[in-house]
Amino acid sequence: MDLSITKVEQSKLSSLPDDESKLGFGQYFSDHMFKMDYSPEQEWHSRRIVPYGPLDLDPAAMVLHYGQECFEGLKAYRGVDGGVRLFRYRDNLQRLLNSARRLCMPEFDIEEVCDGLKRLVLLEQEWIPRTEGCALYIRPNYIATDPFLGVRASNNYLLYIMVGPVGAYYPQGFDPVSIYVSDEYVRAVKGGIGEAKTCGNYAASLKAQREAKEKGFTQVLWLDGKERKYVEEVGTMNMFFVIGDEVITSPLTGSILPGVTRDSVLHILRTWGVNVSERLLAIDEVVAAAKDGTLKEAFGTGTAAIISPVGSVHYKDETHSVAGGETGPLSQKLYDHILDIQYSREEDPYGWVERIDL
Ligand SMILES: *Cc1c(COP(=O)(O)O)cnc(C)c1O
Repeated sequence: MDLSITKVEQSKLSSLPDDESKLGFGQYFSDHMFKMDYSPEQEWHSRRIVPYGPLDLDPAAMVLHYGQECFEGLKAYRGVDGGVRLFRYRDNLQRLLNSARRLCMPEFDIEEVCDGLKRLVLLEQEWIPRTEGCALYIRPNYIATDPFLGVRASNNYLLYIMVGPVGAYYPQGFDPVSIYVSDEYVRAVKGGIGEAKTCGNYAASLKAQREAKEKGFTQVLWLDGKERKYVEEVGTMNMFFVIGDEVITSPLTGSILPGVTRDSVLHILRTWGVNVSERLLAIDEVVAAAKDGTLKEAFGTGTAAIISPVGSVHYKDETHSVAGGETGPLSQKLYDHILDIQYSREEDPYGWVERIDL
């Protein structure tokens, strides 16, 4: 497994804001990136770490026309002891492989990509913020590069990984989101590409997201594409509801992205002995529970925010308050627990965290 490394002459590190709480999300990118190429003749080759910069891509590159692409999002954390840690990164790369299979893209060796990812994060360790809640966001991206117009699978590909520091999602503490249930637009349907992390799904989501914003809501809650009845995901997060003493999330129906955070939350809740169900949940059941007071909490899960409490749900001209618009106790407890593990304040009982700088 060869890996060549070409370093920058001058780091851009000093261009970062002094105040790490001003980092925001997805705005800063580090000095280097990992790349590897695929061709039918050579298969995967030229594994390299090179200076961050524009890609050399033909204007006819197939990814730009037909969206043959998939990506991942994960984070590296600096623990309270200064150590550099990754959280369940193999699961992210396994999901990238699953997405790639769905999109007729060549298989890759997960270990080869894991190795490149770790070497890149270690090279960029000075870019990992020191403030609690901040992290180094890691974005693997896998694209079709044949210069060709016509719908078929590409022959040549590029897989690259970029990283950049991101600020705390909640610098001022939790801020529960208001969600708008779209019954006009859908994100994905079973048999489509909703369970792949691929760019087309996000392009498809923009119009509903814009309408929700215009109406004063933060995020869209997607219903299933066929019956427009069952709750699926919110924005780019999986969704959990606490009704009575049952915690409910949608099963992986084929139109839902199998979130790593979703899986972590399910595992933790089961470990805690909480009554959790992966079952279809009709929006009417959510509304009825909101009305009779049994809807205790709702929250989204995803790598960026970890836990995103929901303060209200808007459906068919009615807004229903959730947990009095505050952060519910279970949302808070899950958030604290996962962050304690990621920042190594607490020992990780699940084997999810790997220290990579020793
Ligand atoms: C990435 C993503 C999620 C969350 O996945 P995590 O692995 O928890 O970050 C959920 N839904 C969609 C649509 C996503 O793109």
